[in-house]
Amino acid sequence: MTDCLFCKMVSGDITPDTVYEDEDVLAFRDINPQAPVHVLVVPKQHVATLNDLDADNSALVGKMMMAAAKIAQQEGFAEQGYRTVMNCNDDGGQTVFHIHLHLLGGRVMHWPPG
Ligand code: AMP
Ligand code: ZN
Repeated sequence: MTDCLFCKMVSGDITPDTVYEDEDVLAFRDINPQAPVHVLVVPKQHVATLNDLDADNSALVGKMMMAAAKIAQQEGFAEQGYRTVMNCNDDGGQTVFHIHLHLLGGRVMHWPPG
C-alpha cells in the first residue's frame, strides 16, 4: 500500500526508531509515547483493521504478540508487567489503518482504559 504510513516504514521509505524486526513483523517506538516505553508492533503484510483478519492472515496476530513479549523482555519490564492494545476503527481510536499492537510498559497501567 503506497499511501500507508506503516507500509512505508516496512519498505524503508520512512525510517522509524526500530527496536525489533523479524521476517513477519517490525516494531518501533511510538512518536507520541503514552508510557515510558511505547512500542508499536506491525505486521510486514498490510492488513487495514482487525475486521480484515481472515484464515489466511490471522497467524500474524500471534507473531505480533510473541514479538511484544520478546520486546518486553528486551526492555526489562516483562516480569513487572505491561499492556498490549489493538484499536479498531473510530470507536476504538484507530488512526493508522494498518494493524498494530501497542506495547506499553514502564509504569502501572490503569483500568478501565479511557
Ligand atoms: P492508533 O491510534 O491505535 O491507530 O495508533 C497509531 C499510533 O501511531 C499512535 O500512537 C501514533 O502516535 C503513532 N504514530 C503516528 N505516526 C507515527 C510515526 N511517524 N512514527 C511512530 N509512531 C507514529
Ligand atoms: Zn500498510
